[in-house]
Amino acid sequence: MKKLHVLLLLCLFAACNEKGKDNNATDASYKDEQTFAQPDKAVVKHLNLTLAVDFATQQMTGKAAWDIDNVSKGNEIIFDANTLSIQKVTLGDDEKETKYSLDSAVKYKGQALHVAIQPDTKKVNIYYTTSKNATAVQWLTPAQTAGKKSPFLFTQSESILARTWVPCQDGPGIRFTYEATVTVPKDLMAVMSADNPQQKNAEGVYHFKQSHPIPSYLLALAVGDLAFKAIDNRTGVYAEPSVVEKAAWEFVDMGKMVDAAEKLYGPYRWGRYDVLILPPSFPFGGMENPNLTFATPTLIAGDRSLVNVIAHELAHSWSGNLVTNATWNDMWLNEGFTVYFERRIVEAVYGKKDAQMQEVLGRQELLHFMHEIGDTSRDTKLKGEYDGRDPDDAITDIPYEKGYAFLRTLEEAVGRDSFDVFLKQYFDTHAFQSRTTEQFLADVNSKLLKGDTAKANAIRIHEWVYGTGLPSNVAPTHPENFKAIDSLLAAWSQTGNATGFSKLVVNTNEKLYFISHLPENTDAAKMAVLDKEFRFTQSGNAEIQCAWYVLGIRYKYTPVDEPLKKFLSSVGRRKFLTPLYKELIKTPEGKVRALAIFESAKAGYHPLAVQSIGDLLK
Ligand SMILES: [Zn+2]
Repeated sequence: MKKLHVLLLLCLFAACNEKGKDNNATDASYKDEQTFAQPDKAVVKHLNLTLAVDFATQQMTGKAAWDIDNVSKGNEIIFDANTLSIQKVTLGDDEKETKYSLDSAVKYKGQALHVAIQPDTKKVNIYYTTSKNATAVQWLTPAQTAGKKSPFLFTQSESILARTWVPCQDGPGIRFTYEATVTVPKDLMAVMSADNPQQKNAEGVYHFKQSHPIPSYLLALAVGDLAFKAIDNRTGVYAEPSVVEKAAWEFVDMGKMVDAAEKLYGPYRWGRYDVLILPPSFPFGGMENPNLTFATPTLIAGDRSLVNVIAHELAHSWSGNLVTNATWNDMWLNEGFTVYFERRIVEAVYGKKDAQMQEVLGRQELLHFMHEIGDTSRDTKLKGEYDGRDPDDAITDIPYEKGYAFLRTLEEAVGRDSFDVFLKQYFDTHAFQSRTTEQFLADVNSKLLKGDTAKANAIRIHEWVYGTGLPSNVAPTHPENFKAIDSLLAAWSQTGNATGFSKLVVNTNEKLYFISHLPENTDAAKMAVLDKEFRFTQSGNAEIQCAWYVLGIRYKYTPVDEPLKKFLSSVGRRKFLTPLYKELIKTPEGKVRALAIFESAKAGYHPLAVQSIGDLLK
């Protein structure tokens, strides 16, 4: 996803090496506390899903037929369920009805679904209906779409929300293949994280197949008035008809990005790579659903300036989808790697300077976040400590930017060539497996550092992974790329004259840097001068709008008031909502405004965003 930290090293590595077995499902070396499933006893292998989508009742009804491996030959298999209504459960192809029970609900996690099985049971069929409150599913009215004529539906299963629309073993350490048959209203099209249709059919019945084993958080479905446009022979975009041309123009470099990624870390193994543009309420920048990245329309800036998010989601086809974090406490393995890989793709396609500028901005965000929560907070550790908490709380700058900083530091220590060989081998050796932090560190020790303990100690690996804050040996960034902007900022501070600046501060990275480094004595009058030069208030680039509107709120620059309200009412991406609402509630009158905007806008937000912004405004 994109949103927007030594002693026993030797023993640790030795222990990991001993346990470095490959089949995570039966790997007893770790426990995923976020799933009720006990995959070491009975585990899913393949899903055959039949679903009917009903927009009138905002429910999905169907059957999840699971092929299972009853590893322990016991009498029970446990699934995760959350707000599902289970009608019946049967076993085998002859569908003999069996007993099942649901435990009482646990906050965030939902319920354990216990199903009675026989030692030789190979298939479990669960008949169920989703609830209107299914957190993974957002039902949009026609008014909430670009076309305004048809309803829309999309799912967001990460981190542990797949269980709100499919009874499953909902942990990233458990993988399965799937096929699905989905029935939708006849004028709409369905797409999934699988091989997809490129046209609507007359029956409204769509078949899907994902032949690679994936974890449940990559199960995804979208239904709407969709059109497809190819970019080249293996990439393309899906979007509402009024958006599809713009999207294809914006993401014209997708094929080049896939080529660049393959050159770095080996073949793209999923077949096609397409992007689906969702309506604006999508709470994230993008979600790396296999074969089909789900993306926010805020990426369509009209100038191809935000394609790095596509590079990020594409990179997840290796880091995350191919080699997956075993638990959400290991999330940095998904996100830190992906930020690293994203910047390598950006460097290959757009040049080193762009990648380095994004690195500077990323580091700035990381330091800001650490400053905010305190750099001794346990939530600054790379290896997360989220047992008993909502794993969505782990989605901060830590797994992304501290993870990135650690990998950059490793790269500096061993040299880029060695690091690339290691990463390529890592993705190849562990393809379609889930890995823990400890398993990764064992690989670093044996394959990258080749047992060189002195080097491991010099890199301070243990401190990086299990310590708080940012270790002082972090690889430096390259702020010299912004030297020219720094000079302009200095001149602006002295003279208050910005004439001609807009011709010198050109790309999005430079503009974001400029806005975020404006002096503290900025006020509404000074913002007006800058706005006259840059027209930031009217920007079509959501990153710039967000950064500028935050200052507008802070310095009471009233020309942003209406555009801000419009922005908060049309965009559901949490990366933008959170800093804007946070800035608003710093003053009592701002809080009144925030509550009013939230009340009228929340119907258009995804349940995840309603929850996090609602918590913020309490
Ligand atoms: Zn990501």
